[in-house]
Amino acid sequence: ELAKMLKISRTTTLSSYRLLEERGLIQSKMGSGTYVNDSTKPTVDGSMAWDQLFSPQYKSPMASLLRTLIAAPTAEETISLAAGMPDPSFYPLDLIELAFTKRKDDFTRTDYGYIATEGYFPLRQAIAKWQSQFGSQATPDQILIVSGSQQGLYLTVKAFIEQQDYVIVESPTYLGAIQALEAAGARILTLPDSDHLDLELLEDYLIRYRPKLMYTIPTFQNPTGRVMSLDDRQALIELATRYRLVIIEDDPYSLLYYEKPAPPSLKSLDTYGGVIYIGTFSKTLLPGLRTGWVTAAQPVINRLAQEKQHVDLHSNNLAQFILLVCIEENILADHLTKVRSEYKKRRDAMVHALRRYCKETIDFSVPAGGFYIWCKIKHPISVTELMHRAAVSRVAFVPGIAFYTNGTHSNEIRLCFATHNEELLKEGIRRIGQLLMTLSTN
Ligand code: PMP
Repeated sequence: ELAKMLKISRTTTLSSYRLLEERGLIQSKMGSGTYVNDSTKPTVDGSMAWDQLFSPQYKSPMASLLRTLIAAPTAEETISLAAGMPDPSFYPLDLIELAFTKRKDDFTRTDYGYIATEGYFPLRQAIAKWQSQFGSQATPDQILIVSGSQQGLYLTVKAFIEQQDYVIVESPTYLGAIQALEAAGARILTLPDSDHLDLELLEDYLIRYRPKLMYTIPTFQNPTGRVMSLDDRQALIELATRYRLVIIEDDPYSLLYYEKPAPPSLKSLDTYGGVIYIGTFSKTLLPGLRTGWVTAAQPVINRLAQEKQHVDLHSNNLAQFILLVCIEENILADHLTKVRSEYKKRRDAMVHALRRYCKETIDFSVPAGGFYIWCKIKHPISVTELMHRAAVSRVAFVPGIAFYTNGTHSNEIRLCFATHNEELLKEGIRRIGQLLMTLSTN
C-alpha cells in the first residue's frame, strides 16, 4: 500500500525487504507477515558477530529472491503444486512394516554399528541387480550409497569442480544442481531447451571451454518433463567418448513413466566409463529415508567415498536395510506399478484442467512421465506480481526463473501433479487460471 502511494515498484520494495532481512533488521514469519526485529531486546543469538566469523560463502544473486518468492504463499488452505513431493498417502507403510518384521533378524547387531562409507553391502548388491534389469551393468563396488541424490550431486561437484571451472547444463534445469554448481564457483554453460540436443553447440563448448563435466537429467527432465531421444543419447555418448567428457546423469524419474518405458539410461549406453549415474528412492518410494546411490567407475566411487567421509561417515544403516527389504520383497516393484497408474490419472487431470481453465493463458506439452508440467504463460508478466497474486489466490507453484542460471526467463511456471488428488489439482488449476486472467486484463 505504502509502495503504491509513494509510486515505488513492487520489485524495489521486495529488494529492500530482502536487504533488511539479510541485515537482520526485519524477520519474515511464514504465513504471518514481516516484523521489525527489536534490537533493544536481547535474543538467544546474543551479540556474536556471526557474519565476520563464518567462512566466505558464495551467495547466489537468485537465492534470496527465490526464498522470498517461494516462501511467500503459506496460508493453510493453499494448494501447493510447488514441491516435487510424492503423495504421502501412497507410501506403502503397512507393507514395509510387515516385511521389516519378517526380515528384521537379517539385520544383525553389527549392522547397527558403523559401516563402510560406501554403504550397506547387501543394498549395494541389490541395487546392482535392480539396475541390471534396466540394462545397466555395474558391480556392487561401483555403487556408493548416498543420503539422497542431492548428496550424490554435492559430492560429485565437490570432487570435480574448482572455482572458475566450466560445466555444461541444460537450460532450464534442476534448481538444486544449479545451486550446488554455483556454490562451488563453477562457470555454467547452457544448452537451450529444445526437442533435440544441440550437438553442434555442445561440441563448440567442448572445444572452446574444455568443461570439467556436463550435468543432465535425460529422462522426464526437471522442470520441462522432456525425454532425450535414444538417437540423441547415442550421439551424446559418442561425442563424450571422443572428448572424454564426464557426464553426471541425474535420474530420479525414469521409472515413473505413464506411456512407455523410457529409453535406456546414458549409463547403460556408456562405453567409455565417463558417466556418473545418480539414482534415488525419493520419488519412486519415499523421500524421508534419504537414500540414493551413485554408480560410476571405481576411482570415482573411491574419491566420492572420501568426500562423503568428511560429511557423514556413511548413510543411515537402518534406512538402507529397509530399502533392501523393499527391493527384495518386491515392495518397490509393486509400488511402482501402482503409482504409475495413479500419477498418470493425476497428470491427465491436470492436463484436462489446464485445457479447461488456462486455454487462453498457458501453453504446455504433456509429459510422458515424471512429476511436472512446465507451463509457458502466453502474455508477459512480472514474476513478483504473479507470485503475489498466487499467494492471494492460495495456490503455489515454482516460478520458472528458479530453473535458470541467469534469471532472465519470467513467463514460465512449474506445476507438480504428484502430491494431490485429482479434485485438488483441478481446483489448483482453476485458481491459476483465474489469477492469470486477472493479470492479463490488468
Ligand atoms: N535431482 C533432481 C532432478 C530432483 O528433481 C531432485 C528432487 N526434487 C533431486 C535430485 C534430489 O532428490 P533426493 O535428494 O531426495 O534424492
